[in-house]
Amino acid sequence: MFLRSTEQDNNSCEVLKIIIKRLVVGQLDTNCYIVGDKDEKRVGIIDPGGEYNKILNVIQDNNYEVTHIIITHGHIDHILCVDELRKKTFAKVLIHRKDSSALVDGGKNLSFFMGKDIRLSPADIQLEEGDVIDIGKHSFRIIHTPGHSEGGICVYTQGILFSGDTLFRNSIGRTDFPGGSHVKLIDSIKKKLFALDDKTVVYPGHGEETTIENEKNNNPYIINEIGKGDYSG
Ligand SMILES: [Zn+2]
Ligand SMILES: [Zn+2]
Repeated sequence: MFLRSTEQDNNSCEVLKIIIKRLVVGQLDTNCYIVGDKDEKRVGIIDPGGEYNKILNVIQDNNYEVTHIIITHGHIDHILCVDELRKKTFAKVLIHRKDSSALVDGGKNLSFFMGKDIRLSPADIQLEEGDVIDIGKHSFRIIHTPGHSEGGICVYTQGILFSGDTLFRNSIGRTDFPGGSHVKLIDSIKKKLFALDDKTVVYPGHGEETTIENEKNNNPYIINEIGKGDYSG
C-alpha cells in the first residue's frame, strides 16, 4: 500500500487534537509516523526510514512545520532519510544516547551488512529515560526500552505509544543484532510498557497497531517468553 493514513477519526484523537499519520516506507515496510498538533500544524517525524518524497509530500500537502525528527533506534530501516529531512525542514534530530553512534557508523546501523555502509550526521540531541519533547501543545515522553538495541526507546503521549521495534502486534523485536538482549527486551516490555494503562494504543515500528491489553493477553513471545522475535531491521 502506497500511503496509509491512520489519522484517527475516533473521539480520543479528535478531543486531543493530535495528528497521527502512518506512512509505510522502505524495503522492510517500516512505519514512519508523523505526529503533532492539529491546531498549530507543528509535527515531529518518528523513524523516517525511507521514501523521502513520500514523507515530504505529506508534510508539504498539509503545510506542517517539522520541529523534531525522533528516532526510536539506530537501525538503517528507521533512519535512512534523516539527513535529507533535516536539511529540508531544519528539524532537530533526537536519538537515545546509547544508539547515537549508529547514525555515524554503518556497522552499528546495519547498513554495512547490506553492502552500503551508510553514515549520517550526528544527532542534535541525545535522549535519556524520562526526557520530554514538546511538539505544539502535546508532550511526548521518552521511555528507554533496551533489548532490540541498547538505545531503543518508545515514545508516549496521552494514551498513545510509539513502540519502535521493541513491541509489535503479537510479536517482539529481534534480539540477535549487536547490542540486542532477549532478557532486557522482555524486561523492558514487562516493567515499562505493561505498566502503562491497558487501553494505551500501540503504534509499532512495523505492522499494525495494537493495545497494551491485547499484548498482555495474546503476545506469545511475552506470555511464553520464547526467544525469537520478528522483523529483519
Ligand atoms: Zn530495528
Ligand atoms: Zn525495524
